Amino acid sequence: MAFKLVVLDFDGTFTDAEAEAAGFVEAFKADVFDLLGRDVSQAWAQEEEALRANPSDYGWSNDGVIAAPANADPYLRVTVIAQNLCDRFAILRSPATRTEVLEALYRKCYGLTESVPRPDAKDVLETLLDHQLPIVVVTNSRADTVQAKIDGLALRGGDRLTVIGNARKFVMASSPRDELFDSLDDLAVPGLERRKVAVRRGHYYDALKRCWQETGSTAAETLVCGDIFELDLALPLTLGAHVHLIWHDETPPYEVAFVDQHERGGSSRELAGILARL
Ligand SMILES: [Mg+2]
Repeated sequence: MAFKLVVLDFDGTFTDAEAEAAGFVEAFKADVFDLLGRDVSQAWAQEEEALRANPSDYGWSNDGVIAAPANADPYLRVTVIAQNLCDRFAILRSPATRTEVLEALYRKCYGLTESVPRPDAKDVLETLLDHQLPIVVVTNSRADTVQAKIDGLALRGGDRLTVIGNARKFVMASSPRDELFDSLDDLAVPGLERRKVAVRRGHYYDALKRCWQETGSTAAETLVCGDIFELDLALPLTLGAHVHLIWHDETPPYEVAFVDQHERGGSSRELAGILARL
């Protein structure tokens, strides 16, 4: 397929999210214990075990809509564990206060994340750049944080890589956007029986539209790559784009099966699988 645009997620796709988050996770956990006024390691371990054993039972909610599986990456995992501990110990019972407090802890601890690119990240990004296609990184992280990680790779042709940050792929639209977006239906994914995958992600839609306008391309001419199906790929797939899922040990098998059977989908454990799609 001759694509005219490649859109990439970055954290967890080109980096090892678990390794990057190790310092963040320890600090966040310590702050949650501090909030509760005691060490609740045992309760934390029970919540974590339950979440890992039945990942499809748990979702990371944003404004009451599940935006991603709770076990998709360490950041979502600890946020859901903290929310469950708040319920268990009956603290921060006002949803607005809880969100503000946990987000403040999240921001404070996020500074402790490190940059751990996957070993093949540099090679794959340089080969992608060699194709002379517009390549845009669309990330929930701040653009400068991700740009610094990319700069650290010293890519050949790296100045042609653009970054759109704060994409907020987890925020569902609360108001109408345009006819196409407003008509989108949530996605039924076999194997995920409890709910449909929410696709009306307004901020992410704005970012994708901006990419298409600025590059003069369409959804059908675009390949979108990411490591979390619900966050990165569900919306562009619904809009007609081609998608590629980079999976890891915690990826729900039904997500891999779903993209693999889709005529515009594909998946691989290795990043080189992206190159095979071009
Ligand atoms: Mg990611």
